[in-house]
Amino acid sequence: MAKPTVAVYKYSSCDGCQLSILNLEDELLDLAGVVEIAYFLEARRQTLPGPYDIALVEGSVTTPHEAERIQEIRSQAKTLVAIGACATSGGIQALRNFTSVDDLAMAVYEHPEYLNTLPTSTPISENVKVDYELWGCPVNKYQLVEVIQALLQKRRPNLPTHSICLDCKRKGVVCVMVAYGIPCLGPGTRTGCGVLCPSNGRGCYGCFGPAPNADMKTIVTAMNFVERYPGEVKGLLTNISNYAPAFRQAAELPGVTPIQTRGDQP
Ligand code: SF4
Ligand code: SF4
Repeated sequence: MAKPTVAVYKYSSCDGCQLSILNLEDELLDLAGVVEIAYFLEARRQTLPGPYDIALVEGSVTTPHEAERIQEIRSQAKTLVAIGACATSGGIQALRNFTSVDDLAMAVYEHPEYLNTLPTSTPISENVKVDYELWGCPVNKYQLVEVIQALLQKRRPNLPTHSICLDCKRKGVVCVMVAYGIPCLGPGTRTGCGVLCPSNGRGCYGCFGPAPNADMKTIVTAMNFVERYPGEVKGLLTNISNYAPAFRQAAELPGVTPIQTRGDQP
């Protein structure tokens, strides 16, 4: 019996989520035994023609070519899974969505006229129908295995959606917000990273995206209460998952102080 085919695609991104697949080490050989890796340019040059059973898409849609290509990929894939912060929320490059991309290009590049880019960087779901989303920067490799396993077993993937706070309690990590007065976006952020930042004495900046049903208004009020300098909370909300609607709206709540630029300094 032919094995189900998997294709892995890269859009505008740093490749970190694709590396998470290669970092599967112990699981990769088992995975290669049950699926055919038909298209994965980061891992092998040989490609097999579509259509594919599962398409894993990393990155955001940022160029006209990407906008066109994602339609073709969708039409070739039975199940499409967006993987990582860029694919699910637009990533750090979505910061351009709040300003003029032409101004940014002028400031950064000597020859901005060579660029062929869209005015926005958008998640895959804003462009085509997405069947599953895996958040994180990078994505949690075990969540990735769970999705592939579930699809092979024809069941719904078991992907937890609670906030990082619960993981802190389970792991006995001291709360940085309560104990040290460090603003932390963990109460509003989806589980998946293993409490990486609070375990190291830092506040969370939401790279696993908003936890569904998080009460962002209350969370932002608590964060504002311990803000150490103007714009600190806004900086956390407008980080890697800045374009995710829940964080985007929270960043505009009254009481969230603007980020200071050098020109604002006395
Ligand atoms: S450190 Fe952050 S994520 Fe952990 S319990 Fe405190 S607020 Fe929640
Ligand atoms: S604690 Fe927050 S910012 Fe840090 S890795 Fe986890 S989700 Fe990302």
